[in-house]
Amino acid sequence: MENCIFCKIIKGDIPSPRLYEDDKMIVIKDIEPKAKLHYLCIPKTHFALLSEMDSEKAETLKHCFAKIAQLEETLGLQDGYRVIVNQGENGGQTVHHLHIHLLGGEKLGDF
Ligand code: AMP
Ligand code: ZN
Repeated sequence: MENCIFCKIIKGDIPSPRLYEDDKMIVIKDIEPKAKLHYLCIPKTHFALLSEMDSEKAETLKHCFAKIAQLEETLGLQDGYRVIVNQGENGGQTVHHLHIHLLGGEKLGDF
């Protein structure tokens, strides 16, 4: 998708080191970390909202969550972490390419 910053990162047009990559997703560090560790898991398929999900996108997200679980130790998240998927205006979504925030590396405050 043109003008999508995450599509550009996925294509390699914007450099961003990948902590993990496969055919369905990448994991990168968030450029403005909100916790000691803050990663983004970004599906390679461009869509913005959970409400756009079809069976193929659901399979992709299932893969993302299964892989996140496998990567916990590699990412330093073995003591627990928070998973956030911001949705739309009220959710504070600023990049309209669905992504999964992973926050950890410290005890997080209540929200
Ligand atoms: P959201 O507000 O849920 O849409 O999250 C977008 C996230 O993308 C924010 O936490 C930003 O800090 C992060 N972000 C924006 N541009 C980049 C980039 N080039 N590399 C890594 N993270 C980015
Ligand atoms: Zn995109």
